[in-house]
Amino acid sequence: MPPFEQPTAAENQQRARDYLQRFKQQPVGHYIAGQWCATEGAELFANINPADNSPMGKVVAGTPEDMDRACTAAAEAFPEWAALPGAQRKKLLNRLADLLEARADEIALVESSDCGQPIRFMKQAAVRGAANFRFFADKAPEAGNGLSLLQPEHTNYTLRAPIGPVGIITPWNTPFMLATWKIAPALAAGCTVVHKPAELSPLSAHLLAEISADAGLPVGVWNTVHGYGETVGRRLCEHPAIKAIALVGETTTGSQVIRQGADTLKRVHLELGGKNPVIVFDDADFDRALDAVVFMIYSLNGQRCTSSSRLLIQNSIRERFLAALTQRVGQLVVGDPLDPNTEVGPLIHRGHFDKVMGYMATAAQEGAVIAAGGVARDDLGDGNYVAPTLFVDADNSMRVAREEIFGPVLTAIGFEDEAEALRIANDSDYGLAGYIWTGDTGRALRMAQGVQAGMLWVNSENNRNLPSPFGGMKMSGIGRDGGDYSFDFYMETKNICIAHDTHRVPALGKSTD
Ligand code: NAD
Repeated sequence: MPPFEQPTAAENQQRARDYLQRFKQQPVGHYIAGQWCATEGAELFANINPADNSPMGKVVAGTPEDMDRACTAAAEAFPEWAALPGAQRKKLLNRLADLLEARADEIALVESSDCGQPIRFMKQAAVRGAANFRFFADKAPEAGNGLSLLQPEHTNYTLRAPIGPVGIITPWNTPFMLATWKIAPALAAGCTVVHKPAELSPLSAHLLAEISADAGLPVGVWNTVHGYGETVGRRLCEHPAIKAIALVGETTTGSQVIRQGADTLKRVHLELGGKNPVIVFDDADFDRALDAVVFMIYSLNGQRCTSSSRLLIQNSIRERFLAALTQRVGQLVVGDPLDPNTEVGPLIHRGHFDKVMGYMATAAQEGAVIAAGGVARDDLGDGNYVAPTLFVDADNSMRVAREEIFGPVLTAIGFEDEAEALRIANDSDYGLAGYIWTGDTGRALRMAQGVQAGMLWVNSENNRNLPSPFGGMKMSGIGRDGGDYSFDFYMETKNICIAHDTHRVPALGKSTD
């Protein structure tokens, strides 16, 4: 893999232009049954650059018929892929990982241009994506393993078998990373895949499909269909050949996916929204907590499901902490995502920008105080730039404390003691993640147990461990990803019960009376 040096903004922009050139010339189309589908005559929509709202190219708006062909291809490829020894799937997935790393520079620059995420966070995207593939590749040979469950006169054993062709629907916030995170375990388990990427950031999905072909995955094992959720996404959920849907997206989309999949009894795994609390007690390491609070809401443009968008700060240190925080927020570097100095880039598209900006007025109406930001950064050109924003003097009943804003916007709420912190943390429809900062181990344990969230970090920002379960409770989702949890979703568990030939088999109809 070529080492990723620290190029200048101008160098990044030039290389990005080179990589993106082909998307200007040729629309992004589907990859179905090992073929790149013709784009002539297809309905197209524009792919817009978040940094200046200029067109980057066109994308095919898939039809339900396109999706049907992809699902059929995945169904036809399934028996052979499922029967392939795990060691061979491992080899292919490791090859895919090698190819991801070989195109690391391209993936980083295309992804950063397409979704507006700063290059400082995207430059490791391919390496992390490759790590996802390698991790699950290593587990492929043992994915079918089960348990031995003994009884006095019977032996039970379990095994797992891939559930069938699966649909994977991904969002626009970190599209490449999330696609690798979902697709790698599905393939390792022996499932074939139909991927429906977000319509707002389709490019890295196209690169991924190309790489899957170059890695030599058999025809139909990996299919990609572009287009809108309401058309191709819906059809994917409804298609009878598809046995499970893994969605990463909004909570309302999760409900729709359940409804759309109801008639075919789809298994669903939903990774949805969040309004995650970061709780800072007065005995916490002040500086480390401050760094983490800033990082976990303003990195990735705040377009991050695990962002800590609610700061619960103990009243005894509130003034001092918020003063330091306000200063840091004001110093964040907003700008072109391809500039290595940029810390906060543009939001994905104009509609989302308008939604996020709408919360500035909401906050003011509700009586929160805008301590930093609160305005658009029009001075940076035509992109969707929002100044990193901090609302203080908020309470948990306000919309800015309850709704997922999904931008660089933090709402700070004071609390008196542990009981109040716990009450506010749990007074939310969501339950994805939580962050606890304290120097008191007992309190950390009590809070970690009490906060209703699928993932808690104590004295840390979000740290990902691939074998650990990832997912949310309440309106943040259903199911867990990671390690063996992913295989539980993509596979059926079977129990086989074998008699020792010692037990009495009930004998009916033997009565002579
Ligand atoms: P979204 O729900 O609008 O779209 C996600 C995907 O679902 C897209 O591919 C979209 O086309 C598709 N879709 C939309 N309607 C559909 C339908 N009726 N049937 C099938 N598919 C449909 O979400 P978004 O705006 O792209 O992404 C942001 C959201 O994703 C936020 O709420 C964020 O919290 C969430 N997210 C969650 C996690 C997590 O792990 N919990 C991770 C990242 C993002």
